[in-house]
Amino acid sequence: MSDIIQLLPDAIANQIAAGEVVQRPASALKELLENAVDAGATQIQVVVKEAGKQLIQVIDNGKGMSATDARMSFERHATSKIRNSTDLFTIRTFGFRGEALASIAAVAQVELKTKQAESELGTLIQIEGSEVKKQEPFAGNVGTAVSMKNLFFNVPARRNFLKSNPVEMRHIVDEFQRVALSYPEIGFSLFQQDLEVYNLTPGKLSHRIVQLFGKSYQGQLVPCEELTPHVNVKGYVGKPENAKKTRGEQFFFVNNRYIKSSYLHHAVGNAFEGLIQPDQHPFYVLFLEIDPSHIDINVHPTKTEIKFDDERTVYAVIRSAVKQALGSHHVVPSIDFSYDVNFNEKWDQDPSKKEQVDREYSYKTFNTPEFKKASTSGWEKLFESNIPVNQPQDYTRKTESEDTEVLTFSSKANPDQIPDRIPRPSAEDSTGTTFQVELSYVVAQMSTGMLIVDQQAAHERVLYERYLRQLKIAQGPSQQCLFPPIIELGSSDFALVQDLLPELHSLGFMVSEFGKDTVIIQGVPADIQVKNEKELFEGLLEQFKNYKNELSLDKRENLARSLARKSALKKGQKLNPQEMETLVGQLFACQNPNFGLGGNKSFVKLDLSSIHSFFGK
Ligand code: ADP
Ligand code: MG
Repeated sequence: MSDIIQLLPDAIANQIAAGEVVQRPASALKELLENAVDAGATQIQVVVKEAGKQLIQVIDNGKGMSATDARMSFERHATSKIRNSTDLFTIRTFGFRGEALASIAAVAQVELKTKQAESELGTLIQIEGSEVKKQEPFAGNVGTAVSMKNLFFNVPARRNFLKSNPVEMRHIVDEFQRVALSYPEIGFSLFQQDLEVYNLTPGKLSHRIVQLFGKSYQGQLVPCEELTPHVNVKGYVGKPENAKKTRGEQFFFVNNRYIKSSYLHHAVGNAFEGLIQPDQHPFYVLFLEIDPSHIDINVHPTKTEIKFDDERTVYAVIRSAVKQALGSHHVVPSIDFSYDVNFNEKWDQDPSKKEQVDREYSYKTFNTPEFKKASTSGWEKLFESNIPVNQPQDYTRKTESEDTEVLTFSSKANPDQIPDRIPRPSAEDSTGTTFQVELSYVVAQMSTGMLIVDQQAAHERVLYERYLRQLKIAQGPSQQCLFPPIIELGSSDFALVQDLLPELHSLGFMVSEFGKDTVIIQGVPADIQVKNEKELFEGLLEQFKNYKNELSLDKRENLARSLARKSALKKGQKLNPQEMETLVGQLFACQNPNFGLGGNKSFVKLDLSSIHSFFGK
């Protein structure tokens, strides 16, 4: 039999490739806009007719092309942006596949006019279904204008699949917004038929957001920034009250390229948890700067998917950045338009700045629960008050009701759970053998069996009762802040702090007024390990307000609860044997050791008879 395999003619190969790159008018617009940005344009104009089905024209004032390049640009895999495969790992331009113009020209009637500054005349090329119809010199401005007419004129099946004009126009506006957001320093305009839809002047990101989404966003933006050696996150998130039921105003850019990622979206949602309803979506425009060698953008021709080599770290950094921004959002009454979000300035170009970033990184990272793993130094402080660490463990409670059994009362936080009466372990019960499981549970042996204690729930309980006591006797030990933070509060938070002043003092917070709606924190409770007093204080207020809405607790109970929640041990934190024993001891010195603050059990007891029964004894 004769050979039957043949290479496809270029025009057909291009048409097939176009299926991936150009799905609809908006995808062609995206490619043309990206080419204009890559060409260094400072002003880009878009003209759309019939939702792009009749015409999409992109005019830029970028560097233009020579006559030869203009012709070459329509060849498949013709690109000026990479030379070899290693360049793929250092990509800073939008384009690199050299496919867009070839694909667009395969399925539309395209006219390109382009001129470089140094040449007197520019070049005009007309090409239809990959066939060059005209190439001639042309006199005009520096830059490039590409018109794409009658998309899919030669592929009727695909033309029929295009959606209605409003739907296609929505896609066009979406693409336009994404590029306009990622380059606030470039001027953009968009005309539909002859109507001006947008005229965006160059400026800062905050201006661009307001220009695109409306004036109501002006007071709703919270700046967000986190710099780490691995990834930088900068941008804005909307205040929780601005969250919407519909999605659409969520933007991630990685090295200025818009990407979709439900995983990273989840990180933002996670940071908003408790602040918005589960069915609401917060506004955000977040820019991630990451070394291109740590990402792969070549996953799909439209390049909106991306692979990170360390996705989890990126997740953690985003969540922490947003959390931190939100933690202080109530001190940002409205957006400060002088805040310069200078995305293109790379911090690593300035060594002194880098050093600062490194310092910030080590501080910030180790201050987040994810990274607070194996550090045990200074833990003793946590256990200072009730039971001295260096004395033999004494599990008996030192209160008047010493010899009674522990009774638990149901409360709002642990509703209708009437627990069994559980005898308190006695001093003799402790054998000194305690260990941690999963850095979350402390297992302690007793003569009558064993205890499994949830370290976070237990510590919350211990602290809560301690703070309640302090609030009653109005004297909590305080540690002085080395650098007393000055915190600007909104007027309602300021009023709240004034209302809580006596209680805050009882807990050990040395707070005083410091000008209008501003306080200074000179001391914080002595038994809390704090790296960031401001964050602690603001977090306490946030938690207080949440509980106030949720549980309508009285002031003292709420404060004790909020501070305990905020400062308790978390799971994942390593404890040494002494700390474990102290924790267990302190738990059983509590009035109500059975439950953590969320109403969850703080421990379970496995007595010997149950253990025997496991083995049929
Ligand atoms: P890619 O952007 O992936 O390189 P394209 O097919 O989009 O591939 O463009 C091919 C080449 O044409 C680009 O590499 C660039 O050199 C040139 N080009 C395209 N559009 C423009 C423009 N607006 N201004 C200047 N050069 C352009
Ligand atoms: Mg391109």
